[in-house]
Amino acid sequence: MLSTQLSQLAIQNDWQINAKDDLVYGDFNKFRFTLMEGIGFKAILTPVAGISSEGLVTIKAWLRANQKPLNLKNYSLADNFLVVRLRESWKPRSTEQLAAILTQLSDVLKQIELPLEACAICGQPAEKQGLLHGLYCAMHLECQDTKTVDFTATHT
Ligand SMILES: [Zn+2]
Repeated sequence: MLSTQLSQLAIQNDWQINAKDDLVYGDFNKFRFTLMEGIGFKAILTPVAGISSEGLVTIKAWLRANQKPLNLKNYSLADNFLVVRLRESWKPRSTEQLAAILTQLSDVLKQIELPLEACAICGQPAEKQGLLHGLYCAMHLECQDTKTVDFTATHT
């Protein structure tokens, strides 16, 4: 059952609601986000294909710096997706608080000049968007069966 906060966020931003899998997704400040929830947390997922190595460093530093202030449970950067899990107590964050975090996060993505239209699989510009394993992202349909070019793998 989708929480009131996620339903409201979806409605306010004209997002899609996937009630079957308890997730919502759509555009926020031009970036693509999927939000889902579980016991004691909410998760924000966004594609970061095409991210530069400097961008990775910047976003990791931002996540570290905000782990306490934003009460993050944990986060990960893998397979071209950033996953930020927010710890939730008995009193969940409000829709406004969730939107504020999305604003901060999209500001960082903008600051590191993350390409908006990078296919989540190959990283090249894609005109279409879709769902990759249920996550909203830009992608080429023809890339679905190909190997992911992983921009989140640590560069050396
Ligand atoms: Zn592609």
